Amino acid sequence: MMRRDQLVGHLAMMMLSLAWAAPAAAQGVASTDSAPSRWRQHELNRPHAPPVVPASTLGAPPADAIVLFDGRDLSAFVVAGRPPAPGAPAAAPAAPTWKVENGYVEVVPRGGSLRTKESFGDVQLHAEWAAPNPPMLTGQNRGNSGIILMGQYEFQVLDSYGRTDTYADGTAGSIYGQYPPLVNASRPPGEWQTYDIYFRRPRFRSDGSLQEPARATVVLNGLLVQNNEIIYGPTAPTPPYRYAAHADALPLTLQDHGQPVRFRNIWVRRIKERPEPPPSYVPTAAALTPAQLQGMAGRYWRPRPAATAPAAGPPPGPPAPAYTVTVQGSDVYVAQGGFGGSAPPVRAIPTAPDRLWITGRAAELLLTRDASGVVTTVREAGSNLAPAQRGDGAP
Ligand code: MG
Repeated sequence: MMRRDQLVGHLAMMMLSLAWAAPAAAQGVASTDSAPSRWRQHELNRPHAPPVVPASTLGAPPADAIVLFDGRDLSAFVVAGRPPAPGAPAAAPAAPTWKVENGYVEVVPRGGSLRTKESFGDVQLHAEWAAPNPPMLTGQNRGNSGIILMGQYEFQVLDSYGRTDTYADGTAGSIYGQYPPLVNASRPPGEWQTYDIYFRRPRFRSDGSLQEPARATVVLNGLLVQNNEIIYGPTAPTPPYRYAAHADALPLTLQDHGQPVRFRNIWVRRIKERPEPPPSYVPTAAALTPAQLQGMAGRYWRPRPAATAPAAGPPPGPPAPAYTVTVQGSDVYVAQGGFGGSAPPVRAIPTAPDRLWITGRAAELLLTRDASGVVTTVREAGSNLAPAQRGDGAP
């Protein structure tokens, strides 16, 4: 019989494989008649990105960054400590003892890893670090530290300059134990190196199952070393990789691996999701009568502008209606055309007797009807073109 932890791991991997496929559908890649979100394309009411003042110097914290270490103090951190024994009260966090001098902080071996007082989820993180010079020891003990996001996902710090004396997925730029860096972008020990980490935390459902694994993109010294990789679970020296539901925000950790690695200029930005439209935005089909629906069906033309008629050469192709509206049961379709032909019909939603919202693009048609309810003209909202007139052929 499968143990519970085996079952959870099995389910997590199963959900991982499902989540792997999910983004393509969610992003509209597989379908052509839906937008990448519930906003319609070119929606003028969609909120604009909030302004953020960039840093004047690349690598310096932008205006919305949370500076974790600016070279002066470690007030953003406490000693990570060890989890209390079962049933024992948690000890009060201790102040860091790492050495702060000359604008950097240096790991004091056995001073303990540090964790932030604040918690973070999706982040952009910048940090600069330098391995000890002269170098000490070899392999995983040569300038080892790490940036461990959410206390669980380690981005390795190691003196990997010109070195192959340890496993590839534990070198600088690796997502520890899962992905080696794409290239060895390391600088020599003693030189400052930059880490820029773009991290999307895992998502869990309310029942604790994995909805979406974590992802990360990493740039080391200006070179891409991790390209939107799927993280298989908390990084650990040995498999299995296994997600366990955790909070949406957790402290990040700087690792004490026993070597005097230095850090400076550490900042982080919280990354928010783009706002989705409010529920009221989703157009709901108005309850129209069959006669009102059928009254939309038809072809709507605009006169050919005189300037488009060629003075010589082959005759132009046959004109096409600006809009062709078809009704099948309660479903409405609009094909947009013109003198160059017609595009394939797309679903349209009548949101009112005189409004037709075209899915998948920025268009809302405004209709006028005659006394019997038959639509006589069609005009695109926001357009300065003349209304298209109902007709069976070219005017
Ligand atoms: Mg490490």
